[in-house]
Amino acid sequence: MSDCLFCKIAEKEVEAEVVYEDEEIVAFKDINPAAPVHILIIPRKHFDSLVDVQKEDAELIGKLHLAANHLAGVYEIKERGFRVVINCGQEGGQAIAHLHLHLLGGKPLNHNIAEGRGV
Ligand code: 5GP
Ligand code: ZN
Repeated sequence: MSDCLFCKIAEKEVEAEVVYEDEEIVAFKDINPAAPVHILIIPRKHFDSLVDVQKEDAELIGKLHLAANHLAGVYEIKERGFRVVINCGQEGGQAIAHLHLHLLGGKPLNHNIAEGRGV
């Protein structure tokens, strides 16, 4: 997707603070963090949202979660706890149409997960 911001970040055409990357995944700090740790984890493959994920993508979706687990270790929030969020579509609060996981932590998070920016 040539006009997709997160594809451009994955391709290094747009700057971001990348904290993890491999052949399939890129993770970078959210530009407007909602918590002390706020990392976006994306597949290099473009999906508009979770709605577009197919059965053959199951391994990749698993790897995104493993990356979240890994980064929770790197940022030392495994013991305290953290949250992983996928916003999907307009009412789900998705602003960027490239599938991404939010990894949030480093403070007590609001228990009402249906309110706010996924925090
Ligand atoms: P969404 O609302 O789509 O689930 O989340 C999009 C996230 O992307 C927001 O938390 C927003 O702060 C972040 N974001 C938007 N533009 C940029 C950008 O140019 N760079 C980075 N690093 N994050 C961005
Ligand atoms: Zn994209």
